[in-house]
Amino acid sequence: MLETEKQTLEDELASHGRVQSETGDWQGASQGFEGQESDPNDVADQIEELATNVPLVEELEDRHVDVTEALEKMEEGVYGICEACNEPIPLERLKANPAARTCIQHADEV
Ligand SMILES: [Zn+2]
Repeated sequence: MLETEKQTLEDELASHGRVQSETGDWQGASQGFEGQESDPNDVADQIEELATNVPLVEELEDRHVDVTEALEKMEEGVYGICEACNEPIPLERLKANPAARTCIQHADEV
């Protein structure tokens, strides 16, 4: 389930942004924004696309980090443990949000 979500997020990131080769961070981008002669309407479209993609990619990247951390925890055998109180996170919560790092009581604390 998490693996699938991670793959989906990576696909989404790839279609809305590009990886910065130096840092490995994702950055919002529009397709074909660079290296092309284009008329002003195209440029306006691309700027609009960029304005949409930049926050979108940031959100996707946050989510990607959460999912990646959840997968690492699974490997370490500490998946599904609240980071605030070390109690097991209820299964219902994990079903709703597989990347949850805390129980419901501590949802706002981490
Ligand atoms: Zn807790």
